[in-house]
Amino acid sequence: MTKKNVSNKPKAAFFDFACCEGCQLQVANLGEALLDILGAIDVVEFREVMSEKWDKDYDVAIVEGSITDHHAEERIKKIRARSRVLIAYGACAAIGGVNGMKNSFDLDEIRRSVYGKDYKLFDSTPTRAIHQVVKVDYTVNGCPVYPPELLEVIKCALRGLAYTVPDKPVCSECKLNENVCMYERGVACLGPWTKAGCNSWCVNNGNICYGCRGLVSRPASGAAEEVIMKYNLKPELIKNKFDMYNKCGEAEAKGGK
Ligand code: SF4
Ligand code: SF4
Ligand code: SF4
Repeated sequence: MTKKNVSNKPKAAFFDFACCEGCQLQVANLGEALLDILGAIDVVEFREVMSEKWDKDYDVAIVEGSITDHHAEERIKKIRARSRVLIAYGACAAIGGVNGMKNSFDLDEIRRSVYGKDYKLFDSTPTRAIHQVVKVDYTVNGCPVYPPELLEVIKCALRGLAYTVPDKPVCSECKLNENVCMYERGVACLGPWTKAGCNSWCVNNGNICYGCRGLVSRPASGAAEEVIMKYNLKPELIKNKFDMYNKCGEAEAKGGK
């Protein structure tokens, strides 16, 4: 144990499960804001940057990635049991994310194609988001997470304040940013059905919305139907595009305390 771990600051630990670790990269890229956070907490475990392990409970566990085998399930349950507050960050953790595409196929077929004839030696389960296995106190959506939102959620967690995940369509932010709608350019975009909170990040940068923050709980169905009719879209096209991030069934993740 290092001397810095003896302070009275909240003890925070970062953990990763099935993911690309891109959301950890977002943490590393927080710049000055990261220094502010590091001044307010003791990071006691973070596999990417330190080898120390903490043997007491955590004040805040910050978890990236989804649950894809029995070992991961046991591990997240142990982390949950030791954590006062648990934050699931990134689409993989919040809604299953791209790992959820596995759920479109027969599990043995997937295992065989990945591991070959000895596939039964390798543990695998259907993909689940963190909140589908243990209680989650805070959720940060996005692939990767949107840094301002990640900061806001960490601050709320440290202060014991609630954070409400935005539940309106990305279009509402996109309009405020005065983007030319992708549909006007002949490209299908998932903004009308996707939870806002990223400040229409992808569209601002010339891309479509891929639905990485999950479905809004009450889509503006009138507006969405209007889009489908106006641009003569096939509803299956929209559904197929959503499959990239949203194949873990119960996509609604808990927003705050
Ligand atoms: S949410 Fe996206 S960026 Fe973050 S770990 Fe998962 S795949 Fe990577
Ligand atoms: S459909 Fe896409 S591009 Fe058009 S307003 Fe909505 S988010 Fe923006
Ligand atoms: S615009 Fe859509 S795909 Fe891009 S970050 Fe926002 S929710 Fe995710």
